[in-house]
Amino acid sequence: MKEATYIWRDGELIKWHDATTHVLSHTLHYGNGAFEGTRAYMTDKGLAIFRLKDHCKRLLDSCKIVAIACPYSQTELQNAHIELLKANKNDYTTNVYIRPLVYLGYGVMGVYHVNAPVHTMIAAWEWGAYLGEDGINNGIKVKISSFVRNPIKSSMGKAKVPANYLNSQMAKYEALACGCEEALLLDDNGCIAEGSGECFFIVRNGMLITPPQTHTLESITQASVIEIAKDLGIEVVIRDITRDEVYIADEAFFTGTAAEVTPIREVDFRTIGSGTAGEITKKLQAEFTKVVMGKNPKYAHYLTYID
Ligand code: PMP
Repeated sequence: MKEATYIWRDGELIKWHDATTHVLSHTLHYGNGAFEGTRAYMTDKGLAIFRLKDHCKRLLDSCKIVAIACPYSQTELQNAHIELLKANKNDYTTNVYIRPLVYLGYGVMGVYHVNAPVHTMIAAWEWGAYLGEDGINNGIKVKISSFVRNPIKSSMGKAKVPANYLNSQMAKYEALACGCEEALLLDDNGCIAEGSGECFFIVRNGMLITPPQTHTLESITQASVIEIAKDLGIEVVIRDITRDEVYIADEAFFTGTAAEVTPIREVDFRTIGSGTAGEITKKLQAEFTKVVMGKNPKYAHYLTYID
């Protein structure tokens, strides 16, 4: 990974390599915490964080769900992001991925987490296409996972919490071992839920279809893509999708902060559409890029410029 000079932790900027933690930190053992994945884009007017407010709001929502008292307000978190990117400005020449994490530190062991100290950190480094440059241009190979998405009766998928990602990690591991690039997980009713770190869309007869958020994170990119699609006059339907419907879709793609808009060319060794990025996918991808790069004035309010 490409290191930067500073990491923000508990209100201070510290050197990248000083941002260490004790081996008995509570989160390390029991997996509770809350994190975000946010991107800043190198626009013509410098670095701009995409939907910073929404990401900070979701971070605090995640904390609330898992009963962690984050010591910072949404405004303080937003300002901390800006402070960090300003401090690291000379380290960045291209797009940046930002990872805030609220975690439980050292001092208390045992499952009961409430007395563990709460720490907050933010790191930001240059990171290119999450699923590869070739993937973002030509599409990726996807495997429907043998792992069911964390069921809502025992997990809380609206919280972006480290523990939830064991399910994602095992699905991704399996998909890569099978020669694919990403996993697609079903919910416990057998309908499509989401990718290991992305939301999912198909296109059928010109219509954009995406699953409801019952079994998924409340994805910020999914919401942006739906908004953009409506602008382009594309009909958007939110409903359940079955595995066999994916196989016969005209197009399919993933969305996420890391994955952006990544076309899917194959699912379970069946070619999707023409076997490359579909027309509507490409249109949405191009428009999404315009939005995050500050080239669509309608979406200017989603960008926080770092000057
Ligand atoms: N689902 C999961 C499980 C994720 O980890 C992510 C990435 N944060 C997403 C969906 C996409 O969410 P977003 O568009 O807000 O990044």
